[in-house]
Amino acid sequence: MELFLTENQTDDMRLSVRTTRVLHHEQTAYQELVIVETPQWGRLMALDGFFQTCDRDEFVYHEMGAHVPLLTHPDPKRVLIVGGGDGGMAREVARHPGVEHVDLVEIDGRVIECCKTYFPQIAVALSGNPKVHVHVADGIQWVREHEAEYDVVIIDSSEPIGPGEGLFTADFYASVYRCLTGDGILVAQTESPWVNADVIRRAYRGIRQSFPITRLYTCAVPTYPTGLWSFTLGSKKYDPLEADPEARIAALGRLRYYTPDVHFAAFQLPGFVAEIVAAE
Ligand code: SAM
Repeated sequence: MELFLTENQTDDMRLSVRTTRVLHHEQTAYQELVIVETPQWGRLMALDGFFQTCDRDEFVYHEMGAHVPLLTHPDPKRVLIVGGGDGGMAREVARHPGVEHVDLVEIDGRVIECCKTYFPQIAVALSGNPKVHVHVADGIQWVREHEAEYDVVIIDSSEPIGPGEGLFTADFYASVYRCLTGDGILVAQTESPWVNADVIRRAYRGIRQSFPITRLYTCAVPTYPTGLWSFTLGSKKYDPLEADPEARIAALGRLRYYTPDVHFAAFQLPGFVAEIVAAE
């Protein structure tokens, strides 16, 4: 019998992936966690039915979430990742030789443990990397309790429902502003322009209330709804369009999506995407 794992991406649209094995299935204290083996995408993890990460395309999201802000800031040393329990964002951040300290704050310890077991290449930085410090805690509270401490904060959250809901509010972005240093940068994953325009609008408006430079950028992630994905960047001082990614990219090793050209191209928005944030 053929078995498919299906994500209800919206009330009217689904994505089904054929699975050959269920590797793990549990209800954690926060969410339903499923990890399956798939012929198309390798291993894939879903939380509460939403596809989060998979072997074959994870590099797109993680490279674009990490290297855009880290190569916009001229000298990032301390980085906070909120969420990101799969470890892919930490792996990319840890590539930067100048980064000295990474705090990863994930609310669900089971996500971390299961990803270490089933996604060793993604979770590689979560054990034994002296720069990376893993904390099982609520990112909202963590951000509230830290002031002027980080050069870059990356919000690698799940969807704005369940435990991730509070990570998309203007209040939260204001506390991220306070926990950044004087020239710090925030990047938040902000979902799909096709089916989550309201999420993007709300996040963009919230970030803009605190940060003088606010910019939306996109990348192509085939297992996320519609494949077109967005991040919103808020910066106190440095404009990503004036960055010099060429200068430090060689030290990062082999990348598969991010290039200096992609850095700038990602901010060139198709008309309908630019319109989502034009009035904000
Ligand atoms: N790349 C993914 C995506 O866009 O679908 C996100 C992956 S990562 C696994 C998202 C993580 O955020 C989940 O493991 C979830 O437990 C965590 N998370 C949700 N709310 C959180 C909170 N308030 N504090 C810390 N982590 C949170």
